[in-house]
Amino acid sequence: MSTGTHRRADQDRLDNLHASLSQEFEVQTARLTELTADTGDPNQAHTQSALIAATRQSLEQISGALRRIAEGTYGVCERCQGDIPTERLEILPHARFCVPCQQKQKG
Ligand SMILES: [Zn+2]
Repeated sequence: MSTGTHRRADQDRLDNLHASLSQEFEVQTARLTELTADTGDPNQAHTQSALIAATRQSLEQISGALRRIAEGTYGVCERCQGDIPTERLEILPHARFCVPCQQKQKG
């Protein structure tokens, strides 16, 4: 199904990343469940809603990264199709764009 041979070290790295992202996904899902279940105080609900939004966003980012790993497009910039530098991915595992494209994306 996949095309060509890939570097094995890369595959190892992706396997590890996939495992840690899956774990993170579970943690965030549990947090979201907790946040959405716990209501009562309206002041707290306001704080909660910001946390819920942030948690949802990170779940989205994590699941996007997991999907790209599965599809074999992880680490490829979605905008210019170039490689996203490994150092960037280490800091931001769910990065979808390389640095120049990310900056263009904002502007
Ligand atoms: Zn790019």
